[in-house]
Amino acid sequence: MDNHYKPSSIRWTHEQIKWILRWSEIIQSGRWPSDYKESGYVGGNKSHNQRAPYETPIQIWAELTKRIERTNQDGYFLQAVYSNDNRIAEMERIAKAFHMDINEVSDRVERALRYCTGWCRRWMKCSSCRVKDCPSRGKKKAYEYGSWRY
Ligand SMILES: [Zn+2]
Repeated sequence: MDNHYKPSSIRWTHEQIKWILRWSEIIQSGRWPSDYKESGYVGGNKSHNQRAPYETPIQIWAELTKRIERTNQDGYFLQAVYSNDNRIAEMERIAKAFHMDINEVSDRVERALRYCTGWCRRWMKCSSCRVKDCPSRGKKKAYEYGSWRY
């Protein structure tokens, strides 16, 4: 069973980010992996989101790309691993290519993934991120990837 998300339901959870990466080829090209036709979701049923922060595949992809870029090389690993159908094989390939233990690869991928989660961008203070309806309401501090602990 595969979860399915609409662009407007993306809230940057762990699971959603993995899902976006898995379908990255489609999303990057401005389409959405789904049964939702393009006209079906934009301006569709809005009962659960009055104002979705992201409405198109391009917006979602641009936001995720910005977040991933902040995680340096780990973000490259993250993208490679989760866009691959065989994640273990991809982690093994990276481990070999970069002379790392596979556990280190998987830790770095996980860390980058977590950095990318959350309503707002982690490297910005909430008070300046201007994300609509932020549940942290301006209280979140800013962390660059290098100094961030989870
Ligand atoms: Zn915020």
